[in-house]
Amino acid sequence: MMFVELSDVDSLGRSVDERERICREAITKWGLNEQLAQLSEECCELGAAANQLRRDRKWAREGVIEEIADVVIMCAQVGMVIDPTGKDVEQAIKQKLARLEGKLRAT
Ligand SMILES: [Mg+2]
Repeated sequence: MMFVELSDVDSLGRSVDERERICREAITKWGLNEQLAQLSEECCELGAAANQLRRDRKWAREGVIEEIADVVIMCAQVGMVIDPTGKDVEQAIKQKLARLEGKLRAT
């Protein structure tokens, strides 16, 4: 189960089921440890891209988008192993959004 909401069909005509199948094939082929390392690497790349965009480098927008995609794909793969139903991640998202909303209302 993907815990990130995706459109029903992507621009290449892949359905959510196909995306899930590809992610499942990847995590099965390379295993959790390797994909955790890849997740870590992609998160670092996203952080670097975010900093470039923050420095007002307009050309960096595409890089941030690509790195977000990489991180989403890696999160999907890791999530398939550590939270197969997606319920725990969903619960954590709900709690964090509630906390964020609390901060918004407090300021
Ligand atoms: Mg990347």
